[in-house]
Amino acid sequence: MTACEKDVRFRIIKVREGGLMPRESKAAKRERAVEVCRRMGELYPAPESALDYTNPFELVICVMLSAQTTDAAVNKVTPELFRRWPDAASLAAADVAEVGEVIHTIGFWRAKAAHAVEAAQMIMADHAGEIPSTMDELTRLPGVGRKTANIVLNKAFGVVDGIAVDTHVYRIATRLGLTKAPTPLAAEQDLLNVLPQELWGPVNEQWIHFGRDVCDARSPRCDACALADLCPSCGKVAGNPKPKPKRRKRSRS
Ligand code: SF4
Repeated sequence: MTACEKDVRFRIIKVREGGLMPRESKAAKRERAVEVCRRMGELYPAPESALDYTNPFELVICVMLSAQTTDAAVNKVTPELFRRWPDAASLAAADVAEVGEVIHTIGFWRAKAAHAVEAAQMIMADHAGEIPSTMDELTRLPGVGRKTANIVLNKAFGVVDGIAVDTHVYRIATRLGLTKAPTPLAAEQDLLNVLPQELWGPVNEQWIHFGRDVCDARSPRCDACALADLCPSCGKVAGNPKPKPKRRKRSRS
C-alpha cells in the first residue's frame, strides 16, 4: 500500500467534477493543518529567504520586484539597483526610466520601476524615510499588497499579522484541501481561520521550499511526500490543465 492509498483521515462521500470531496469536520481539518505545519517544521527547521537584502528598505523593494518573477532573477538586478539607489531618499529622486533600465530583465519591470520610485517617495513624505511597520501603512505604498506586507512585517519587524500566500502556498493549500478560495488573497483568510496564530510565521518560506522540492506545480512527487497521508490530492494531481485540441470540422462532400 502506498502512502497515497492510506488516506486514513478522509472519508470520501461523493464525486464531483474535478475530484473527490472528503467529509471533514472543522476540528479534524484544524488538526490536520496543524500536523501539516508540524511536519513542515521538521522538513524545513530554518528556512532562509532566497532574496538577497540587508535592511527593511531593500526587503520592501526585493519583495515588490519578486511578484511573478523568480527570486534568482531579482537577485541579479538588485546589486546594481541598490548600488545606485541605496535608500528611500535616493530612490525617491530617481528617474523611473533609469530604474527601469536596471531592472528590465524581470517581469513587469515598467510597472515595478514606477511603483518602486513612488513607494520611495511616499516613504520619504509620510514616514520620514523609515519603512512603516503596520499592515495598513505598508499596503498604502504603491506596489505593496498583503503578501508583500506580510513578508516585510514578519522579516523586518518580527510582526506576524497574516500569512503571505504566493503561488506555492496557494497551490499547496488548495491541494491539501485547506482552501477552495479562488484567489491567493482569499486563501489567506482560510489559512488564518484553520491555523492557530503561533503557526503562521514560518508558513510562507517553509511551503515555498516544499513547493519547489516536492509539491511541484507540474509534477508533484506524491510518492516521496511526507504529507501524503494528510493530502486528499495525493496521486490525483498530475500537472497543470492542458489545452484541449481543436476539433476538426467534417467536410460535407
Ligand atoms: S506532493 Fe502530492 S501528496 Fe504531497 S502535498 Fe503535493 S499533491 Fe499532496
